[in-house]
Amino acid sequence: MHVFEKNSSIFNLLSEAISDGVVVVNQEHEIVSINKHAQEFFGYTSEELLGKPMLVLIPDRFKKAHKDHTVRYFKTSKEGLMVRDRCLYASRKSGEEFPVNISLHPFELYERHYALALVRDMTEEIEIQRNIDLQTQAMDSAHNGIVITDALLPDNPIIYVNQAFEKITGYPRSEVLNKNCRFLQNNDREQEGIRKIRNCIKTGKSCQVRVRNYKKDGTLFWNEVSINPIKNEDGIVTHFIGIQNDITRKVKTQAEVNHLVRIFNESLNEIFVIDADSLKFTHANFGACRNSGYSLEELHRMKVLDLLTEYEPAEFRKLLEPIYEKSLKKIILETSLKRKDGTEYPVEVHFQSSIKGDKRVIVCIVLDVTDKRNYTERLEAKVEERTSQLKEALSREIELNELKTKFLSMVSHEFKTPLSAILTSATLVGKYCEVNAQEKRVKHLKTIKSEVKHLNNILNDFLSIEKFEKGKEVYNLTKFSLSKVIDEVIYNANMILKVGQRISYPQGVDELTVCQDEKIVSLVLTNLLYNSIKYSPEDTLIDLQVNVTKDTLQFQVRDEGIGIPEKDQKFIFDRYFRAGNVLLTQGTGIGLNIVKTHVETLGGSINFESTENKGTTFTVQLPLNEKACS
Ligand code: ADP
Repeated sequence: MHVFEKNSSIFNLLSEAISDGVVVVNQEHEIVSINKHAQEFFGYTSEELLGKPMLVLIPDRFKKAHKDHTVRYFKTSKEGLMVRDRCLYASRKSGEEFPVNISLHPFELYERHYALALVRDMTEEIEIQRNIDLQTQAMDSAHNGIVITDALLPDNPIIYVNQAFEKITGYPRSEVLNKNCRFLQNNDREQEGIRKIRNCIKTGKSCQVRVRNYKKDGTLFWNEVSINPIKNEDGIVTHFIGIQNDITRKVKTQAEVNHLVRIFNESLNEIFVIDADSLKFTHANFGACRNSGYSLEELHRMKVLDLLTEYEPAEFRKLLEPIYEKSLKKIILETSLKRKDGTEYPVEVHFQSSIKGDKRVIVCIVLDVTDKRNYTERLEAKVEERTSQLKEALSREIELNELKTKFLSMVSHEFKTPLSAILTSATLVGKYCEVNAQEKRVKHLKTIKSEVKHLNNILNDFLSIEKFEKGKEVYNLTKFSLSKVIDEVIYNANMILKVGQRISYPQGVDELTVCQDEKIVSLVLTNLLYNSIKYSPEDTLIDLQVNVTKDTLQFQVRDEGIGIPEKDQKFIFDRYFRAGNVLLTQGTGIGLNIVKTHVETLGGSINFESTENKGTTFTVQLPLNEKACS
């Protein structure tokens, strides 16, 4: 104390020049000197402290430990820092504790030991450090990547990245420090966002962009970057802070959503959305607008029942109740939808409940069933057509069966007489053995021939009908000699002529060739001539006239027979019909029916005139067409 008083002016001069607080303590642990800085942060005047134990500057809770430490210190006289971390605390006059940094320097003066303590008030520094730590911690705990670059250094290098940056990009801090951020872009540098970043760095402005960046492993990620410049007091940009946000998932989700929205909007199927309470349209897609003819703006002013005009509001709400109450997930209505132009089209509407924000809405998916309905109608028509075809086929089948039944009963009846005639004649032929009985044999052989022909005709008639019924009849137009056919027919007819009957041969048919179906011509002539023979008495004439023009072949068969009763004339061409005056004569009632069918199918006609007991004239006309045979 004494020594310091003596030399105080030199010491003071020295200690005041030091920026730290200076406190000198003697070996009795008394303060022997304290400079102005120390007085200031301890809050004491030097008078208040000189000669006082140094413990007054130590907080109570450390006093004991400090005393032991100081004793040890003086004993070992080790020079250097007593403690250098901020856990060392001092006490102000006010009793307030504050952190200090102390270095102790022992020295000897006039055989006495002293310690010079350089004391620094660490309150502010610790506060700053704490703030920095806090900020670093905050930045590290952020989910956004944070990058700080130094704008004053060449190429704007990174000086800080937080943990989130490391996580997002996959680059560890050590690899990116002192590098420009462009490595995040790989070679994908032609981006609108990158251009904006370059511009904002150049002009020192802030910006927010969305760019494609690449992780260390090359994976692309969408980065929403916000870049903000930091300026110093002179307004010079010293740093840039970049905040990164990996929005890859958001971008993907957004793309999905956009895609779905596009599908909804662009769909050609009609989709309407209506408010469940007001029944007003809240949305309608492209298909809905196109088919209904209304624009979306127009629909926004309309209600669903403006289109589904078939329903009353109360009735409609009642219909939709099950989906409001969730007892049904979907309701399907078959109705019609009224277009803007007033026309209506058949639709099937599927109603489903949905939620938009906090509002309940109904999604209506409309299917235009015009085609379906047309298809159903077409199908029904087809079924009807097929049914009638089947009915027709069935009735043909029934008729055919009837024919077969009739044939069988006819066979037993119609075949009996000719067959017994054949049998008798054949037996008799066997008995005429004498040479001079040749005439009788010829007569019986003629009878046999004639009866066989008759049976053959009956069979041909039946076969002809069956062919017709089955639709198998095929006509064959050829050029043939008319006289040849007439010769054959008359030759055969001659065989069955009654006594005194004769057939007049037509004039002017020699050398004539015609184009027709030869078989049918023969069949027609045979039928008419056979009927005339059958239904005329002995000694009568059967006159056959043939008239050929350029396009018509006409036959006329006139007889002097029993004629057809007037009342029966209208049925004469009906199948199986036989007039009342012929019932004792053999016959089937199908010959004329077949003749008429063939003639008409070939485009010709058949008529007759008849007077009972006087005679009958049948006239047949067939078309001739040279070209059909060339
Ligand atoms: P059918 O085998 O009975 O002769 P057709 O079909 O040939 O059958 O003739 C039908 C009916 O027309 C005959 O049953 C007969 O009543 C009447 N008929 C046809 N040709 C003559 C004719 N030349 N003279 C009188 N009646 C005729």
